[in-house]
Amino acid sequence: VANEKESMYLVSEFAGKYFHDILQNSEEGKAIGLTYFKERGFSQDTIEKFGLGYSPNVWDAFTKEAIDKGYQLEFLEKTGLTIVKEDKQFDRFKGRVMFPIQSMSGRVLGFGGRILTNDKKAAKYLNSPESEIYHKSKVLYGIYHAKQAIAKQDNCYLVEGYTDVIQFNQAGIENVVASSGTALTPDQINLVKRLTKNMTVLFDGDAAGLRASIRGIDLILEAGMNVRVCAFPDGEDPDSFAKKTPLEELVRYLEENAKDFIQFKASLLMKEANNDPIKKADLIRDMVVSISKISDRIKREVYMQECSRIMDISEDVLFNTLAQIDKKEI
Ligand code: ATP
Ligand code: MN
Ligand code: MN
Ligand code: MN
Repeated sequence: VANEKESMYLVSEFAGKYFHDILQNSEEGKAIGLTYFKERGFSQDTIEKFGLGYSPNVWDAFTKEAIDKGYQLEFLEKTGLTIVKEDKQFDRFKGRVMFPIQSMSGRVLGFGGRILTNDKKAAKYLNSPESEIYHKSKVLYGIYHAKQAIAKQDNCYLVEGYTDVIQFNQAGIENVVASSGTALTPDQINLVKRLTKNMTVLFDGDAAGLRASIRGIDLILEAGMNVRVCAFPDGEDPDSFAKKTPLEELVRYLEENAKDFIQFKASLLMKEANNDPIKKADLIRDMVVSISKISDRIKREVYMQECSRIMDISEDVLFNTLAQIDKKEI
């Protein structure tokens, strides 16, 4: 079994090199893939750093080349790079630009592939399937390039997508990782926790991004980490925002808009609550639920005080609510 995993790593590494080579050196790769990445504003250095690639728009171009080079179909299939149907072989990522997903130590575990058209019927991103080497709930895109900067800055930015990570790196902010379309998991948080206790959630400025950041907050608190949240203007994501903002301004935006989770929830939900007492009550309960995830007693106390102050409600009531939550009465 150890050999099997090693074979899967090797075929994945080959695939990464193949897609990258096609992007840089083939007519189709340059005309379609490279043009696409340049239009997104990615420099040659960035393309190299992240090993970006292109999978030819031919049914089995990659699979043929891999088998030609001596890689076994068994491992092509197990990594999901090749789909076998009725004895025929198909490239999973045909005609997509490729984002290799690397482990903490830099090994290629799988891929994300993006379509180039805006065809609403096709999935925008396709990912490698779960396999013995790729467990999407245990991987954070960008962690290999981020780990040193996370430790050095003692903070980790969490974003949603591949291009958010890449655009931030290009801008000069390297302590950034993406959950890549899956809801954040405890395993993913633990990868970061080894490097820092501080996370700043930077999700897309849309309803989906907002929901995802709210879900993420409690999980990060439960892991015993500190969490801040920075929202982006409507319709922007970290990629689009970083692309059009000079670094100094970007850094200032992040500093000025990163709010403590209590303030974030308060400002967000206050907007929704609109002074409706019932909604305000729900909101306060929701904030206390978040606070209940914090096991550090001193931090809890500090947050209770802050919640009391921001929401203009007595600490006694909040502590009663917290006690009920701890007893699982709410
Ligand atoms: P882009 O800027 O290339 O359009 P994005 O990263 O902004 O993409 P979002 O729609 O914000 O894309 O989604 C965030 C992340 O969720 C993506 O980077 C990708 O990892 C994942 N994702 C998005 N759409 C899909 C999909 N249809 N299937 C699987 N994963 C997806
Ligand atoms: Mn989004
Ligand atoms: Mn996005
Ligand atoms: Mn985007």
